[in-house]
Amino acid sequence: MGGVPGGLSPPLVSLEHEELVIRRGRRSGAYTVVAVHSTARGPALGGCRMWRYQSSADGARDALKLSRAMTFKAAAADLRLGGGKGVICADPGRAPSGRRRRDMLLDFADTVNALDGSYVTAEDVGTSARDMAVIAQGTSHVRGLSRSKGGSGDPSPFTAIGVEAAIRACCERAFGSPELRGRSIALIGVGRVGSSLAKRLARAGAKLLIADIDESKRALVAKLPGARWTDPTSALLADTDVVAPCALGGAVDGVTAGRLRCRVLCGAANNQLTHDGLAEDLRAHGILYGPDFIANAGGLINIAVEIEGYDPARARRRVAQVGDTMREILERADTDRVTPLEAAFALARTRLGG
Ligand code: NAD
Repeated sequence: MGGVPGGLSPPLVSLEHEELVIRRGRRSGAYTVVAVHSTARGPALGGCRMWRYQSSADGARDALKLSRAMTFKAAAADLRLGGGKGVICADPGRAPSGRRRRDMLLDFADTVNALDGSYVTAEDVGTSARDMAVIAQGTSHVRGLSRSKGGSGDPSPFTAIGVEAAIRACCERAFGSPELRGRSIALIGVGRVGSSLAKRLARAGAKLLIADIDESKRALVAKLPGARWTDPTSALLADTDVVAPCALGGAVDGVTAGRLRCRVLCGAANNQLTHDGLAEDLRAHGILYGPDFIANAGGLINIAVEIEGYDPARARRRVAQVGDTMREILERADTDRVTPLEAAFALARTRLGG
C-alpha cells in the first residue's frame, strides 16, 4: 500500500485543516473526533454526528470531509463562523441509550473542551437537542439547545424555510417566475426538514409527489391537498418541474444524473451529488442544480442568530436571504459560464479571502 510518511493513508491527509482531535473517552471507551477545518471567519461550528463507523479512522475521515463543507456553507451564507464537525463513533448495532449514551456525550464534551472554543458543537444526524443538553453539562461550547433551555431549538423548520426560498430562486431562473402555484415538485425524504418543506410547498400551491423509504411517512400525503405518494427512485426520475432531495446524501450518481427528467434539482440533503463533476453533467442535460450547501444553510443561520442573542423573527428574516444568495450564484454562473456549484465555491472562496 502506498502510504505516506507518518503512516497515514492518503484520504486522511489534509493539509487544509487546522486541527484534528481523536480521543478515546475515559467514561465510555468510545472514540470521539473533532475536525476544525477553518476558523478564518470565526469559531468553527458544526454538528455532532453519532454514527456506527467501522473504525475511528472512518469517523475521522467523515469529520474531515464534513468540516470542510461547513466552512464553505458558512462563508457562502456570509456568517462570521468557520467550519468544524464532531463525531461520536457509536456501538455497532443499536444506537446507544441510557447511561452509555450519556457517558459518550460527556466524553465528546471533553474533546470539545480540548479545542478551547475554536470548535462549537450542535445537533446533527444521530443527535438531538436533548443530547446537546447533556453535552452542555461538560462544555459551554454548544448551541442548538431547546428553547426551554435558552437555545434556538430544532433547526429543521428554518432549514425548510431556506430550501423553499432556494427553490423559488431556481424556478425564477428556470421558468421566469418564483411562483410555486401549479409547479410539480418531487420531494424525496420527509423527515424533519422534508415534512416541514412539504407543508410549506403544499400551502404555496405546488403539486407534490412524495417518497420516503419509511412507509409510515405515507400518512403525511393525506394531510396535503393534491399530494401523491411514490417510491424514491420513481420520485427522483419523475417528469416534474423540481426534484428536491431531502433524505441522506448521494441521491444523484453518474447513472441517475443522465436519467433525471426534472428541470430543477434543489433540496435539503447534504452531498446530493456523489461527486462534484456531476454538476457539469447536469448542466449539459439542461438541469439547473441549486447547490445543496447554499439551499440548506437555514439551520446554520438559525444557530448563528442564537450566538448573537436569539430572536426567531430575525432568524426567519435572515434565513429567507438564502433565496438572495441562490439568485446571486445563479447569475454569476450564467455570467461566468460555469456551473452553479462552481459559482457557489467561488463566492465562498472570495469571502474566505482567497
Ligand atoms: P431526518 O433523519 O429527520 O429525515 C430523513 C428522512 O429521509 C427520513 O424520513 C428517512 O426515512 C428518509 N430516507 C432515508 N433514506 C432514504 C432514501 N434512500 N430514500 C428516501 N427516503 C429516505 O433528517 P433531516 O434532519 O430531515 O435531514 C434531511 C437531510 O437534510 C440530511 O441530508 C441532512 O444532512 C440535511 N440537512 C438537515 C438540516 C436540519 O436542519 N435538520 C440542515 C441542513 C441539512
